[in-house]
Amino acid sequence: MNIALPVAVTILLEKLAASGFEAYVVGGCVRDSLLGIEPKDWDICTCAKPQEIIDVFCDFHVLTTGIKHGTVGVVIDGKNYEITTYRSDGTYSDKRRPDSVNYVQDVKDDLSRRDFTINAMAYNEQSGLVDYFGGQRDLEQKIIRCVGDATVRFEEDALRILRALRFASQFGFSIETASKDALRRHKNSLNEISAERIREEFNKLLLGQNVEAVLTEYADVVSVFIPEIEASVGYDQHNPYHVYDVWQHTIKAIASAEKNILVRLALFLHDLQKPFCESENKGHFYIHAALGAKNAQAVLRRLRYDNNTVLIVSRLIFYHDTMLRPEKKLIKRWLNRLGEEELRMLLAVKRADAKAQNPQYLEERLQKLGAVERMLETIIDRQECYALKDLAVDGKDLLLLGFEEGKDIGKTLNYLLGMVIDEEIENKKEQLLAEIAKMDRR
Ligand code: ATP
Ligand code: MG
Repeated sequence: MNIALPVAVTILLEKLAASGFEAYVVGGCVRDSLLGIEPKDWDICTCAKPQEIIDVFCDFHVLTTGIKHGTVGVVIDGKNYEITTYRSDGTYSDKRRPDSVNYVQDVKDDLSRRDFTINAMAYNEQSGLVDYFGGQRDLEQKIIRCVGDATVRFEEDALRILRALRFASQFGFSIETASKDALRRHKNSLNEISAERIREEFNKLLLGQNVEAVLTEYADVVSVFIPEIEASVGYDQHNPYHVYDVWQHTIKAIASAEKNILVRLALFLHDLQKPFCESENKGHFYIHAALGAKNAQAVLRRLRYDNNTVLIVSRLIFYHDTMLRPEKKLIKRWLNRLGEEELRMLLAVKRADAKAQNPQYLEERLQKLGAVERMLETIIDRQECYALKDLAVDGKDLLLLGFEEGKDIGKTLNYLLGMVIDEEIENKKEQLLAEIAKMDRR
């Protein structure tokens, strides 16, 4: 079994070996290499202690911020490689982080603290693959299996519960029975995990190729940290446009969407308020988009998403059910309101939403969205003006005309922009200035 290591990694391993220290690449990069996926980063483990690593790489740029966890960063060609001393984690009194780091001499001890067999393999050119727990077999059989006793491993660190789901989603694997039973029994301890750690794994779960199967099978686990989904599970929509309940529809929509986290988060949250606002006229949910946007803000803030994510996702939800017509002026107004990137995301949300509804209406809906998209392309290709920044006059021009600083300038510019968008006037400076001259400015 050979893994093609990048040159920088070979240098790191060889330098450690030349100083008498055993060293391997380990974890995600070994797993990904065996899967034929290019690893994002190459982690290295070694028997050398942090100070020894620093000494070996005294001629290199070394980062020591992770040193109390036994990690030293070595920079080669601007890229940081993490080198971590073999350790067996100490006790976990808070189910989050080990209380102490215990350095060990044997790579097996380091591998045995890792979460799943597929993540517990090491490799170097001298020894080949080091696989004490059947990781390679589980990769071949597409199985997520805890290293050691699943119950103990989930008790030590509850984040592993969500990591099991995320790897299942990412790689299209299934979770082995004992691990699955144990994670179900311990699911509530996810409550003890920090929002930031949950968020990172949840993002990867949402972007996984197998997200549909995982969200279907493990809704009860996801609802530990997003209980807002509970009401939607099994909620019949009483509406001929829908063939799925709210939760099934949500899942199908996510799975049909492009792999953009903002789009997928928006789809995850877009309909969750439907069960709370069905009108007496059954099958109608008039305010679900506005309520959904508000609910999304609360969920995303709780999971400590950044402000930009909260803003964009809630706006996508707010508008997800609004009709977009392929009329140039209207699309320019949407571009003005959302910007190009976000309008494209809104189209992606609407397309995925349609794909998860009654297939009878799908073709028609996709055609309408396609027409909107073509209109958008035309506007962008022709570099038509839809935003103040592209208007041929700006605040300075108005100041020169004797406008006073303040509201009037903004109002006037927006008025002119409206005329340009509506094609009542061309976006040319002389014409815009002439229009201003015509205005009654008393
Ligand atoms: P990715 O490619 O998404 O980064 P990864 O497997 O590299 O996946 P990381 O979170 O970067 O995941 O962790 C690196 C390695 O550290 C894992 O492969 C695993 O061996 C180990 N590991 C990470 N988190 C845990 C955990 N909570 N418990 C036990 N081992 C873990
Ligand atoms: Mg990693």
